[in-house]
Amino acid sequence: MLLDVRNLPRNGFLSPLGMISLLVLSAAILLRAQTSTQSQPAVPTAQTPATAPAISTASSPQSGIPGSTTSPFGTPSQRSGLSIVVLDPAHGGTDPGARGTGGIRESEIVLDMAVQVRRALELQGFQVVQTRQGNDNPSFDDRSARANAQRGAVFVTLHISSTGLPGTVRVYVSSELPPLTDSKGLIPWDRAQAPFLSLSRKFGDLVQGLLAQRFKGSPPTAQAATVRQLRTTAAPAIAVEISSIVVDDRAQLDHMGQGVADAIAEGAAAFRPMYVVPSVPGVAP
Ligand SMILES: [Zn+2]
Repeated sequence: MLLDVRNLPRNGFLSPLGMISLLVLSAAILLRAQTSTQSQPAVPTAQTPATAPAISTASSPQSGIPGSTTSPFGTPSQRSGLSIVVLDPAHGGTDPGARGTGGIRESEIVLDMAVQVRRALELQGFQVVQTRQGNDNPSFDDRSARANAQRGAVFVTLHISSTGLPGTVRVYVSSELPPLTDSKGLIPWDRAQAPFLSLSRKFGDLVQGLLAQRFKGSPPTAQAATVRQLRTTAAPAIAVEISSIVVDDRAQLDHMGQGVADAIAEGAAAFRPMYVVPSVPGVAP
């Protein structure tokens, strides 16, 4: 099941946990707002005030990258070659996610399925970073931070639904998020996905198309939804939701694992040439 827990501070930009995660991961998330001019990339610096939002925009006149140009492609600050997938088995720990009548738990199935997804991605040449390896429950912000700290990763969160036709799979991308900026031109943490929406849609459509070939009755294209986990992720990001937890036997879901894994891996491989990876973690494309 997909969650949209609106637990973000109203007047803040980063929760304390999120900030700690970012610091630990050395991830000053300086996210350049998508502007029509595609001017200089924002650059994370040690001078970033710890209390300030960690996401800045290109409206700042400063640029620390010598030789950067106005071209969004081929500048010294960017390179092609998406190579990292952050894989998020949702829920875990005290949060079992959706629960079936037979006692099966979403959190356990997605963790097991992540093994297959990881293997399929590695066969496509991707490095895989998992947000959890065991039965723990990192916060939404911690999970997003794993992607936001990487240089040009994509993010995939895995879920089992409690609804929908069993045997089908849906891909969700974040709903439209206006990239609200404050007077300093900073994007709030919970709008981190905004500059990546069109890339997320491309990635999501690729994966959904491959899933539809394997799982009859699945929609042909990705759908937009309000998904808490995606909103704070500064990378192309999708939620993959498998229907459903109401199956009589867990094996019915387990049998879908390889097809789901292959679709995600092949979709990520097809998306790779479409994504010009920024050289600075968290910087918008
Ligand atoms: Zn879920």
